[in-house]
Amino acid sequence: MKLPKKIKRYCPYCKKHTEHKISLVSTGGKRSALKHGSIERAKKRGRGRGLGNKGKWGSKPAVTKWKRKTKSTKKTNILYTCQECKKSHGQKKGKRTGKVQIENKEKKK
Ligand SMILES: [Zn+2]
Repeated sequence: MKLPKKIKRYCPYCKKHTEHKISLVSTGGKRSALKHGSIERAKKRGRGRGLGNKGKWGSKPAVTKWKRKTKSTKKTNILYTCQECKKSHGQKKGKRTGKVQIENKEKKK
């Protein structure tokens, strides 16, 4: 998916259409890193120490897990920054796409 660098969009703070800058944001940190039953917690408990192949508790997940790649696309998080009030607001729902490119070109009117 290709995106323009600037786009005219509704700003909820200015309550009108203004020029917006587009930037991509990461979807967030690690999910449920310290939840019950997580690998991270198990490692703190002392699993995955010592010699040999630790399988599930090792530095890398078990072979069968990283060999299969089911998801080739991700949902994108686009942040719109208003050029007038400099406030930013995001998309409600991201679209699933492989790669997102922000284009430098501006449309000629
Ligand atoms: Zn604004």
